[in-house]
Amino acid sequence: MSDESQELGITESKSHKPGEWYAEVVQKADIADYAPMGGFIVTKPRGYALWEAIQDSLDGWFKQTGVDNVYFPMFIPESFLEREKDIVEGFDPEVAWVTQGGHEELEERLAVRPTSESIIAPFMADWTRSHRDLPMRLNQWCSVVRWEATETKPFFRTKEFMWQEGHTAHASDEGAWNEVWTRLGQYEDLYEDVLAIPVLRGKKPEHDKFPGADTTTTVEALMPDGKSVQGATSHNLGQSFAEAFDITFADEDEDEQTAYTTSWGLSWRALGALIMTHSDDQGLVLPPTVAPTQVVIVPIWQEDTKDDVLEYSEEIADDLETAGFRVELDDRDERNPGFKFNEHELNGVPLRLEIGPHEVEDEEITLVHRPDNAEAVEDRDEIVDAVDEHLEDIYDKLYEAAEETLEENVREAHSPEDILGTIGKHGGYVKTPWCGDEACEEAIKEKIAAEIVMQPLEDEGGSTAGEVPEPDADECGVCGDPADEIAYFAKSY
Ligand SMILES: [Zn+2]
Repeated sequence: MSDESQELGITESKSHKPGEWYAEVVQKADIADYAPMGGFIVTKPRGYALWEAIQDSLDGWFKQTGVDNVYFPMFIPESFLEREKDIVEGFDPEVAWVTQGGHEELEERLAVRPTSESIIAPFMADWTRSHRDLPMRLNQWCSVVRWEATETKPFFRTKEFMWQEGHTAHASDEGAWNEVWTRLGQYEDLYEDVLAIPVLRGKKPEHDKFPGADTTTTVEALMPDGKSVQGATSHNLGQSFAEAFDITFADEDEDEQTAYTTSWGLSWRALGALIMTHSDDQGLVLPPTVAPTQVVIVPIWQEDTKDDVLEYSEEIADDLETAGFRVELDDRDERNPGFKFNEHELNGVPLRLEIGPHEVEDEEITLVHRPDNAEAVEDRDEIVDAVDEHLEDIYDKLYEAAEETLEENVREAHSPEDILGTIGKHGGYVKTPWCGDEACEEAIKEKIAAEIVMQPLEDEGGSTAGEVPEPDADECGVCGDPADEIAYFAKSY
């Protein structure tokens, strides 16, 4: 028994060895496994259920805001990929190619999509005739392949990853900006209202934009190991893709105009951020919003009390299920309650209900919160409302803990020594005035592998790019030259 629970439990520590700990949680909580080829993973049912929960939220919001789902081929002819030169240059080192079909050599190589602008845009061009066809909003849920030679880290670094990519065309610059902000806002809502992770929103510096984009906006989440995760991006592509792929339309005066396009995406990295942010040395911790099982009922009986305890437990399970909760009654005979507690803790079930003879007799139920083991006793008659409140409580606890970590880990620095020292000592974000020169980022990157992960925006939303607010000092934190921008440095995934 002791050996078995040893094997079941997490042996690495989150604070001392976050990388090893993360890999162990993902495997032992049955989220994912490693595929035989380096860089690929297998997503298990419990992991895929989490991805579906993310999909359900986002997909619903997309559809409410005018988006239609489509599906394009996973292969892109080389000549299509070459039509937008920035895309070619940006993705070339990471593209996987198909050169042979069956026994025949292909006349033209096919790229396995690293992103789909190059195959979707030509069709948007075909489908866009008049201003009445715009805005056109398409989205696809699919996987893409980027052949990076890095160590596999489930959901954070894999050669193939699941995502959604939205592609839109608009009659005006204003329409494109509104789109960019709508999607960024939905990504922010997903993180904050569904995944219990606060994010920072801003834009990427010029030199780190999506290839071919005018502006790349981002939501960034801070992980407990002090590194930033790019949570999702929303790009204003201006007219560069529309020009490359002839997305034009007849305006109200029948004059031909070039459209404005955007693209936006969120990958299963969100799943990695979810696991990394909340989980602990006992295993997975999940917010009730996405947990496949929200409530587990563990009956505790002796032979003479078994029937009463089970009957009472079943009634409560029925009540909760009827009320719409995702409930599991763990009445396995061959496992004792201690074993069950550990297993459901490892799997991240947010709320545990314990029911023994005392609970039956007093018409009560004992409830235990997964994140902090907080215990409460509630009346049988009130159990549906009580469970609802406790689940909300658990969500708030998770969000507040993550928010506190974020707030404590945005620090200001005004010299290279200060930037390096602060990131070296604490991790997190360092906010500094910046002259706008990429060389200043390089200087920091060389020494400590931290980069500018984002620049905050004020006056965001509406029909413009928004302005990067004025820094409170006027000298670049790296080179000392005049600075009129703010940059957030951090190590990142
Ligand atoms: Zn500088």
